[in-house]
Amino acid sequence: MAEEAPPSGIERRGSGGWDSVLEAEEYQVAPGGEWRSELWRVAVEQFNRAADLLALDQDLRSRLLEPRRSLVVNFPVRMDDGELRSFTGYRVQHALTVGPTKGGIRYAPAVSLGECAALAMWMTYKCALLDLPFGGAKGGVRCDPNRLSDGELERLTRRYASEILPLIGPDVDIPAPDMATGEREMSWFMDTYSQQVGHSTPGIVTGKPIALGGTAGRRVATGLGVVYCLEAVLDRLGWNVDGQRVAIQGFGTVGAVIARELAARGATIVAIADVTSGAQRPDGIEVEDAIAWVGEHRFLRGFRGGEATERQEMLEVPCDVLVPAALECQITADNAPRLDCRLVAEAANGPTTPEADEILHERGIPVIPDVLANAGGVTVSYFEWVQAQQKYLWDEEEVRARLREHLEAGVERVEEAAGRFGVTRRDAAQAVAIRRVGEAARLRAVFP
Ligand code: NAD
Repeated sequence: MAEEAPPSGIERRGSGGWDSVLEAEEYQVAPGGEWRSELWRVAVEQFNRAADLLALDQDLRSRLLEPRRSLVVNFPVRMDDGELRSFTGYRVQHALTVGPTKGGIRYAPAVSLGECAALAMWMTYKCALLDLPFGGAKGGVRCDPNRLSDGELERLTRRYASEILPLIGPDVDIPAPDMATGEREMSWFMDTYSQQVGHSTPGIVTGKPIALGGTAGRRVATGLGVVYCLEAVLDRLGWNVDGQRVAIQGFGTVGAVIARELAARGATIVAIADVTSGAQRPDGIEVEDAIAWVGEHRFLRGFRGGEATERQEMLEVPCDVLVPAALECQITADNAPRLDCRLVAEAANGPTTPEADEILHERGIPVIPDVLANAGGVTVSYFEWVQAQQKYLWDEEEVRARLREHLEAGVERVEEAAGRFGVTRRDAAQAVAIRRVGEAARLRAVFP
């Protein structure tokens, strides 16, 4: 009998027929291969450690690990010089078990599907740890925002928003700011969505200006949340914030607020850095001068308030508390042995690799993990979303008080689990969160 023809585009090779061609290595995608990236590897390793701790079965592991929905979009944007340039954007929704999904939008040159998948997974577990009724999501556009004009950024934001429109909504998936996005981008985003659906929809994003239905306290929420967590953990360690020497990598929305809030509590900010450069000063950088400099010049480059430092080198400056507040994978097996700090507070998402985690653990340097430390942003985003749903506004004092309450409860859960399991705060935080989402998934069972 004549052998069936191979599907078009697939060449017949070898003696085994086209079935064997499809089995060939180049056609195989390993489980999770769609999301392959360094950050996804980090997220999976962290997940597996906690899943082992909970002795999760294999079915539940894959339900809790792999993102539910992913969208990749390519779209053109008109540049100021009249040319069209094509951009790639993403939106990944990790878990749909407990409510709408929630997560930031970032503009950066390294944004990829794998990076968004990892960040979306961390959002799921951050929300679960903090008792927020959301699953995790993340999105972004691969671009260098520092090389785009305001007009180009507006057109890019509006086009990206309309491209991902089928997947988002105030009860479906609610974006928020992340790296290189803020109130301005959220305003464009909300306006684009509202134009499409025909009525004003403030609940489509959080992190909006107050005039558009944003909440008091959102702008500073992530940085302030890091400080509240740090205070709660230091208190348990018997240390005071007053007098701590702090080094902060990243001087944007999150890093600058941490510097200001910690300096106001008597800490000495011994080093700061952004993408252009860093500064160190053992007796303390004048934080307000640095903020004013960045306000005027956009970057720290040229700031004379301390000795100039390379942005990587500053991680190794002698200090008590090191706060990575910029990028992922900054503390690695290479530099972890040289860190000269007593504690790491992860304001950025995924700043520490699993290999570095091991080294820090062996060296007795505690880490306040990202899913706890930087959860203030999504917590106040939740408050903003609730206020939009209720059409009722809270004042800043109320927002700050509720934020502190939520984060202190999160710290309590992590400390309790770390003690009970005898593990690091990262493993404990992940285990508490994964158990919560796992329980919800079990109760909903599998459709159909
Ligand atoms: P941002 O864009 O406002 O600031 C980022 C800062 O990092 C800038 O100062 C930038 O110059 C600096 N930076 C970039 N590359 C660097 C490098 N190689 N070395 C040193 N500095 C570098 O972003 P952000 O909102 O402050 O976010 C910072 C981190 O916090 C990210 O990991 C983000 O995912 C996380 N985060 C942000 C929020 C939020 O509400 N904005 C919430 C949770 C977590």
